[in-house]
Amino acid sequence: MQPSPITDKAQILLAGGGHTHALLLRMWAMHPLPGVSLVLVSDQVLAPYSGMLPGLLAGEYTAADTHIDLQRLCQAAGATFIHARITGVDAQQQQLLLEDRPPLRYEWLSINTGITPSHISGSDEHAIALKPVSQLRERWQSFLAEKAPHHVAVIGGGAAGFEIVLAIHDALQATAANTAFTLLSAGGLLAGYPLAVQQRARQCLQDAGINLHEDFRVARIEAGTVMGETHQLEADAIFLATPGQAPAWIRHSGLACTDDGFIAVHDSLQSLQHDHVFAVGDVSVQVNHPRPRAGVYAVRQAPVLFHNLRAAIHGQPLKQHRPQQRFLSLLRCGPRTAIAAKGGLHAQGHWVWQWKDTIDRRFMRQFSELSGMTGTPGHTSGSQPMRCGGCGAKVGKTVLDTVLAQLDVTCDADTVIGLQQPDDAAIITPPKGMQLVQSVDGFRSFIDDPFWFGRIAAQHAISDLHAMGATPHSALAHITLPHGNAVQMENTLLQVMTGMTRTLHEEGMQLLGGHTAEGAELSVSLTVNGFIAARSALTKAGMKTGDWLVLSKPLGTGTLFAAHMQQRTQPEWIEAALAVMLQSNREASERLRSLGVHACTDVTGFGLLGHLLEMCEASHCGAELFLDQLPVLAGAHACLAAGIESTLAPENRRFAERISNLANWQTHPLLPLLFDPQTSGGLLASIPADSATEGFTVIGRVCQTPGVHLVL
Ligand SMILES: Cc1cc2nc3c(=O)[nH]c(=O)nc-3n(C[C@H](O)[C@H](O)[C@H](O)COP(=O)(O)OP(=O)(O)OC[C@H]3O[C@@H](n4cnc5c(N)ncnc54)[C@H](O)[C@@H]3O)c2cc1C
Repeated sequence: MQPSPITDKAQILLAGGGHTHALLLRMWAMHPLPGVSLVLVSDQVLAPYSGMLPGLLAGEYTAADTHIDLQRLCQAAGATFIHARITGVDAQQQQLLLEDRPPLRYEWLSINTGITPSHISGSDEHAIALKPVSQLRERWQSFLAEKAPHHVAVIGGGAAGFEIVLAIHDALQATAANTAFTLLSAGGLLAGYPLAVQQRARQCLQDAGINLHEDFRVARIEAGTVMGETHQLEADAIFLATPGQAPAWIRHSGLACTDDGFIAVHDSLQSLQHDHVFAVGDVSVQVNHPRPRAGVYAVRQAPVLFHNLRAAIHGQPLKQHRPQQRFLSLLRCGPRTAIAAKGGLHAQGHWVWQWKDTIDRRFMRQFSELSGMTGTPGHTSGSQPMRCGGCGAKVGKTVLDTVLAQLDVTCDADTVIGLQQPDDAAIITPPKGMQLVQSVDGFRSFIDDPFWFGRIAAQHAISDLHAMGATPHSALAHITLPHGNAVQMENTLLQVMTGMTRTLHEEGMQLLGGHTAEGAELSVSLTVNGFIAARSALTKAGMKTGDWLVLSKPLGTGTLFAAHMQQRTQPEWIEAALAVMLQSNREASERLRSLGVHACTDVTGFGLLGHLLEMCEASHCGAELFLDQLPVLAGAHACLAAGIESTLAPENRRFAERISNLANWQTHPLLPLLFDPQTSGGLLASIPADSATEGFTVIGRVCQTPGVHLVL
């Protein structure tokens, strides 16, 4: 038995990446709690900082200035990032419910999901809501690309509506001098602010030529018209800046809530009846100290939440949070000018804007300057008992049975014994006249999220069947789960197996069985079965001189995920790469067959060059490779240029000696791409020279001379 350290740690699930959780993660990065792991679930990777949103719309800030990269923050804190939309909480079952994937069980839960936009009849179809801000950004960009509107109406006379109407005005100033602007307020402008501040605000609107309609109650919105209770207003661009409402799921969660549906919490930030659930920011109300909804309160709750979650786990006394009565309000009111208000004091001018800018940028710098804080996932105490290896490392039956009961493991008629009636081994009957095609492939996790990892690991393994032109049938899985308590292992296993079976089902495959074991880190291998008619398999041999060499997916996953581990990627690069890795090679395989393909393989660990050389050897020929034509994933070029490569790349570089004219190409920026190992890569095929090549990138030509020759 080979003992390995145990990490039977507690886990805190953070639901939503609001201001409080972002700050908590940062604090955690500096002061991790040994033996406790963090998981953040967020529907977006980039969380907006709304204080700078008006400046973003006005063009004073970039998207990078105003968004927190939650994935990077999680890496710094050693936390797991799960990209998913929360659809509810089941307080009785202690589950966080997620869209389109299985729930996560929690031991400790903290909720910071903010509010949802309040609904006015017709607003979904005919208005642009400020929240969620991620969608606002997209709609704002397409709005700017369209022709200038005649009349912009902003609904909502609070601080957000006031700032936004001025920001839109300033953004369009240069390009749409004839556009009219109106701010509609159900009550008075900036209700709750001192009269003098309201007067300043009115003056700002007047100076900018913006109409203000107070006491205008919007009944509904139609295409091009805001319908008030007594008046109506024609407007071809309508923005909604009304106060938001509580997410609807709270009422069905079993958590105590206020009359208007927000999560009711004690001053310890714990839910009134559920000590293991905390809620912060706009989604919650401290029943002893209700306050208006503002980011500043969410920010102030962070140190208390940080202390209380840790104290609660250890059964220590919790702190009581007393939110401040008044706070400094800084409102952008024109190009690089702002109004400050606190209590009865107020001021206005460029210097106020500079003050606001300094505060906002300082706040955001906390999340961009994370170097030196790189966390280790799941910090452990080191004083834990040792765990068994060998058969003793098998995952407990209860965990496995609980997970299998939640999966769809139905089998078709070809399966004599599968998971429906599990036995010691699976039995399948190949259809008459067909041959069984088998392959095994797997690796340890390269991303946080076990669901997406399960999906990609399955796609990667199935790709071998598509490369052979086989019809996928079934799979067996070997899963190694990181050590943890039963709840954590069940969560990971359910997510990874649901992801895996989702991909298998998309490919028309069934899961027949497998093996689960405990280990240091999550890894998945699949043995995949397919069928093929005798003598019809696509193989690496068969390339013919003059054939085109084509590739079905862009390259660069190795360098991108190496850079991701070093926190040196942009979120959109990783999202795009994951989407490509999830793509099935099925269509490409079918199309290659229809083109009369001569030879085929899939590009994986040995990189493009390694796999191309295998084909050349099997076919007794060589290849000219058009280095400039290689398709590259977004960001991969930048990662290669920064000298970032996968740990397997140096080993793959030994294939370079088979490039006949390497000396002339040593400095070409795409040369390292030839050695980049691919996860769930594309199909590389040799097709007749007269084939239509749509859907593929032509990357070279087959020639007689053995080896690989780089050409322009
Ligand atoms: C234009 C504008 C300007 C503002 N200016 C200021 C200001 O200057 N000062 C101030 O104090 N306040 C300001 N506010 C108010 C401020 O935005 C909110 O009070 C603050 O954002 C609330 O923070 P929070 O931490 O509760 O949640 P949020 O900042 O709303 O964050 C919630 C997070 O949870 C995620 N989430 C939400 N739903 C789900 C789901 N179903 N599944 C997964 N993740 C989810 C979201 O994507 C988001 O990342 C402004 C608001 C607007 C609209």
